[in-house]
Amino acid sequence: MVYVNVDHGIPQYVYTGCKNCTSIMGISLCSIKNRGCCYYYPRFTLLDIQRMAHSLKGLHILKSISKLPSSEIHSFEIHAKGYFDEEGYMKYMESGNKIDTDSIRDHSIFFKACPFVKSGYGCSLPPRYRTYVCNLFLCNEVMEKIKSDRNFEAYMRERERYVRWVEWENTSLREILFENDLDLVRDLEGTVKLLQEIPLNIYDFPQLQPIVISQGFSRGA
Ligand code: SF4
Ligand code: SF4
Repeated sequence: MVYVNVDHGIPQYVYTGCKNCTSIMGISLCSIKNRGCCYYYPRFTLLDIQRMAHSLKGLHILKSISKLPSSEIHSFEIHAKGYFDEEGYMKYMESGNKIDTDSIRDHSIFFKACPFVKSGYGCSLPPRYRTYVCNLFLCNEVMEKIKSDRNFEAYMRERERYVRWVEWENTSLREILFENDLDLVRDLEGTVKLLQEIPLNIYDFPQLQPIVISQGFSRGA
C-alpha cells in the first residue's frame, strides 16, 4: 500500500513494502546492508532548518547534523554527506561484473549510505525533519506498481505543488537573510536565531486516498 503520512504538518509518502525492499536501488554492496534507497546524501534547505529551529528536539537534531564531520555547510543549505566505500566501488568498476540495470547510470550508489540510516531499521530522523526529497520519493519499481491506479495522478500532482511551495518558501527565507546580511557560513548561530523568529508557514497537504497494490504485485519492491 502507498499512503500519505503527515507528521506535524509535513507530508510523507509511505510504501509499506519498503521494509522488505527488493528494488535495484535498494541493493547495497557496502558494509551498511538493508538500507533501502537511503544511499542519498540529504541537503537540508533553509525551510528544513527553520522547522528544526522551531523546536528543542529539532534544534538538537540540527546541531548534530551541522557537527557531522562529513557535513558541508553552504550559505543556504547544509549538505549531510554520508558513507562511501570508494575502494569497493573502484574494484567493482574494474571487475567488469556490474549489476545488470539500464535504470541506474551511477553505480556508486551501491556503495553509499546516508549518515542517518540505520541498517535494517531505516531513517533515524523523524519525518518532520527530513527533506522533501526523502519524504516524497518513490522508486521506479513502486511507481510501476501504482501508476495505473486512479489516485496515482493526484499523488504526482500534489507532490509537484508541494515542491513548488517549498521552493517558494526557501526563496522567501533567502531574501530575508539577504536583507539581514546573514548566511549559514558566515554566522550559523545568528542565521538559526533569525529563522527561529520568523513564523513557520504550514502547508495544508490534502489527505489522498491510499493506493492498494493488487495481488499481481504481491512482492515488496
Ligand atoms: S522506495 Fe523503493 S528503493 Fe526505496 S526502500 Fe522503498 S521499495 Fe526500496
Ligand atoms: S535522511 Fe533519512 S530518509 Fe533521507 S536518505 Fe537519510 S536515512 Fe534516508
